[in-house]
Amino acid sequence: MKLSKNKLDSKIILVTGANAGIGKAAAVEYAKQGAKVILLGRNIESLEHVYDEISELNCDEPMISLMDLEKADGNDYQMVFENMMNEFGKLDGLLLNAGVLGDRSPIAHYDSETWVQTIHVNLTAQFLLTKALLPALYGSDNASVIFTSSGVGKIGKAFWGAYSVSKFGVEALSQILSLEHDDQSSIRFNCINPGATKTKMRKQAYPYEDETALKEPVELMDKYVWLMSDESKGITGQSIDCQ
Ligand code: NDP
Repeated sequence: MKLSKNKLDSKIILVTGANAGIGKAAAVEYAKQGAKVILLGRNIESLEHVYDEISELNCDEPMISLMDLEKADGNDYQMVFENMMNEFGKLDGLLLNAGVLGDRSPIAHYDSETWVQTIHVNLTAQFLLTKALLPALYGSDNASVIFTSSGVGKIGKAFWGAYSVSKFGVEALSQILSLEHDDQSSIRFNCINPGATKTKMRKQAYPYEDETALKEPVELMDKYVWLMSDESKGITGQSIDCQ
């Protein structure tokens, strides 16, 4: 799939976990394709690096939204929504990309605190942010919400514990939202599974593998742009693999 330039002209798109890995690659590519990108993350220094990288490309100036999805409360979500409405009056795209790996251990030994934290960041926070931003997404002519799934979000895998469970939950959340909006052609919800990709999380999951065989995040971007763009209008309730 080869994309021409400016697939996302004048779209307002929020990317979570925009400071690193796949989220960073998506934020930069969305900006290159003409979008105004809101970079959401918890680490201001690395968010500012992405901000600078986009600014140096002469793309539309991005914005930073500092938020820790583990700690955020109702007021923080309300603030993201209000800032969005005050600045733009709508939101065209939401890439729910931020996630944590949790423990790689059997359920019998899984640390309970890590379980709660992993489910919260990977699933509950996705629900809270989507719910808070739905009214802004309704203001778009063609809004696209993309959840980030995983191979272990479709088939359970031993030792993947809360991560696997959270990704099953994300698949369900996306399908439910899609069905609940089946009478509204202006908004769609899909999952994307990046597949094995060279990032910090992949290294944490497989510290001893040969990284040279892995995809770089930038190699996924044709699909990430397509699913965010008007070219994929009508696609909803799907789970798309980048394998
Ligand atoms: P990274 O570890 O590089 O990126 C994870 C991102 O999530 C980082 O930006 C991280 O921020 C952010 N994040 C984690 N916790 C929080 C939090 N509490 N608040 C805000 N942001 C947070 O990994 P990937 O790029 O690989 O992961 C991106 C997505 O892709 C994830 O949802 C992952 O599950 C999924 N995925 C990845 C695969 C792969 O092979 N890489 C395969 C299948 C799915 P910070 O830098 O501050 O920690």
